[in-house]
Amino acid sequence: MNERILIVEDEEALRMTLSDRLRSEGYEIETAADGAAGLQKATEQAYDLVLLDVMLPRKSGLDVCKDIRAAGMAVPILMLTAKGQNVDKIVGLKIGADDYVTKPFDTTELLARIEALLRRASAYASTRPAVQKLGDLQIDIPGTMVKRDGERVALSAREFQLLRYLLEHRNTTMSRANILKDVWGYSSDTFTRTVDVHVASLRQKIETDPKQPKFILTVPGLGYKLAA
Ligand code: CA
Repeated sequence: MNERILIVEDEEALRMTLSDRLRSEGYEIETAADGAAGLQKATEQAYDLVLLDVMLPRKSGLDVCKDIRAAGMAVPILMLTAKGQNVDKIVGLKIGADDYVTKPFDTTELLARIEALLRRASAYASTRPAVQKLGDLQIDIPGTMVKRDGERVALSAREFQLLRYLLEHRNTTMSRANILKDVWGYSSDTFTRTVDVHVASLRQKIETDPKQPKFILTVPGLGYKLAA
């Protein structure tokens, strides 16, 4: 099956050139010409990679990237930045992009980055099943869904991200500060109470007895651990 790439780029000439080139490499391509349309496509359909311009009408690429992650989607995102743009903002601020290339770029270089990201993603997917089990719960990572006995458990995007994060670090104690940094992107530990609030609401939804949790355990003085 061909890998599917979504190109979100407002410059028509570049969008066409990239589409043609990537199609000739065997990828299946869809495009969006502004940020809002890009976000809609990226969250409604499954792609193997999103190529996302930073400067976009209707919604910036940075916001699109953040919102894709806030929706709990782990699709690899490669940002297209303009010269002089602060790339620290893209990777340093943890908006969730995986890599970036600076315009004007060499297509060979872009293709190499795309291949590297796709390889990394498929290596990850092959070591972790797409649907993971946790007790009587089925956690569908790409589908961003949790089910119990075939019934969907309604989680907010943040609760899903938190659950996915704890699942990725199963049986490991994670500090509140680390959870806050990795799931919320906050570097300050003044909001660690936020973590407690979300853990409590997640327990209400996934634990049989939220007062005596089996899955998300409190490690006194240290943080939380997902037991699996
Ligand atoms: Ca642009």
